Amino acid sequence: MQLKLYDTLTREKRPFVPLDPAHVRMYVCGPTVYDFAHIGNARPVIVFDVLFRLLRHFYGPDHVTYVRNITDVDDKINARAAERDISIRELTEVTYRDFKEDVESLGCLPPTVEPRATEHIEEMKTLIERLVAAGAAYVGEDHVLFSVAAMPDYGKLSKRSLDEMVAGARVDVAPYKRNPMDFVLWKPSRPGEPAWDSPAGIAAPGRPGWHIECSAMAWKHLGETFDIHGGGIDLVFPHHENEIAQSRCAFHRPVMANFWLHNGFLQVEGDKMSKSVGNIIKIREALADWPGEVIRLNMLRTHYRQPTDWTVRGLEESWRILDEWYATAADAPEDRISGRVLEALADDLNTPEAITALHALRNLAQGGDKFARDELATSLRFLGLMRDTAVIWEARKQVARGIDPARVEALIAERNAARKAKDFAEADRIRGELTAMGVEIRDSKDGTTWEVAT
Ligand code: AMP
Ligand code: ZN
Repeated sequence: MQLKLYDTLTREKRPFVPLDPAHVRMYVCGPTVYDFAHIGNARPVIVFDVLFRLLRHFYGPDHVTYVRNITDVDDKINARAAERDISIRELTEVTYRDFKEDVESLGCLPPTVEPRATEHIEEMKTLIERLVAAGAAYVGEDHVLFSVAAMPDYGKLSKRSLDEMVAGARVDVAPYKRNPMDFVLWKPSRPGEPAWDSPAGIAAPGRPGWHIECSAMAWKHLGETFDIHGGGIDLVFPHHENEIAQSRCAFHRPVMANFWLHNGFLQVEGDKMSKSVGNIIKIREALADWPGEVIRLNMLRTHYRQPTDWTVRGLEESWRILDEWYATAADAPEDRISGRVLEALADDLNTPEAITALHALRNLAQGGDKFARDELATSLRFLGLMRDTAVIWEARKQVARGIDPARVEALIAERNAARKAKDFAEADRIRGELTAMGVEIRDSKDGTTWEVAT
């Protein structure tokens, strides 16, 4: 089976051939850790987790290195730490821990390496020195700037020419810049800001720009050229364009990564998520309302390159689908992953198509096909879904819906007492109360059972 991936740089879906099949290498831009991550940030984490799982399946778990960095030096971090009167490290430690907990709840495997920017300052300085030596960077007023003129095909990833960029840009035309599109590799730190000894003969202490952080961490952990670089579509320009410029000019290589993958954006009920609209949903908040698997499946129901809309309706539908899968195959043993599911994923991570294949397996399983049931269970677990037993899944639903099982049992006992006393009006009233709580009851000759309604 041939894996094919869409490459933003060449605008085509191509067969994926790793540089070294014994060591497949992927870098994904990670979070800036100043606050809880939001559900938009969860999208690349989930998308690239699926790709990581697929690569591990095709090449072997020990032959894939997935690097997702932690940006822990940034102006937003400085501001937030100052606001709370704590050190930067204290802030980023807690935020990073929260992030790890959140994405684990979403069923994501930990990446192979999670490098911190602050622990790679030496590598950044080495890159900067190389760029200056190569004539691709220069010093101006204690800043080091990348000279876009040094890179003839600057703009190739975002398909914009330098002239167009200059015309359309709202960049500061700082006096120390030779070209308005030149970008910062290193800048001076004001008092109170994190600071390190500067490269390129600058006496004043300073700190790195954002783009050089990723070039340095990718280099340290994956080498000068590697297989896949990923992130959200908003990172194409300027972040990834600049990463490419830095890494190619520092190493004199024709490419930084062979495949550039970008996920589309997530909206909330049709609106762009934004502070001004006040519709930013943190992963932590979403997890209070929805089990992590519901959020995960909901994201995977849209192809990763398409925009996706976060809606309560969609989430409810995802929950219902998971309920059916659990009811059909929760406790089935491991078998093999469905060939149709793998084929769909190998076609540029076509998760909607994989889900169609899972529905077909569910239908077969419901008709009594045990192979289909086991394949369904195995394929779901491979995708990071159906990780619970049926009992735990049911309990999660109760917690998410705020249902207290003891209270439900007590109401059922009251209802049964009312029925025994032939007080059917009271029995109906209690049933109504349970329904309003989201509990569905079923009477049989063996007594009354209940479950969370879907
Ligand atoms: P940031 O912390 O803003 O640098 O974002 C971390 C990652 O989340 C990047 O890969 C972004 O492209 C991605 N991202 C941020 N907002 C969204 C969104 N609304 N939808 C999808 N991806 C997003
Ligand atoms: Zn990056």
